[in-house]
Amino acid sequence: MTCSDFLKELTDYLDGVMDAQTRAELEDHLQWCHNCYVVCNTTKMTIEIYRDSHLYELPDDLRIKLRSAILSKCKGHASDGSPSPAPGHAPTE
Ligand SMILES: [Zn+2]
Repeated sequence: MTCSDFLKELTDYLDGVMDAQTRAELEDHLQWCHNCYVVCNTTKMTIEIYRDSHLYELPDDLRIKLRSAILSKCKGHASDGSPSPAPGHAPTE
């Protein structure tokens, strides 16, 4: 498995919607590829924060800022009135 293979499968991996063999290959890749490990961790954390902003103990002012940032992002994406689906690829900085 190459890094681009890994990144292609990353969102499925984080969603837990892949078969055991592909998952094992991804986890094997994470064992030796620090770059993908960092990308995986960062993406996972970003998703978790977006799913539940209470997951981490954040200072109140940071939490308020984060929440308003998330809300304004949601409003921007949901302008057609339907809930926006999860992004199909990892967010880039
Ligand atoms: Zn890699």
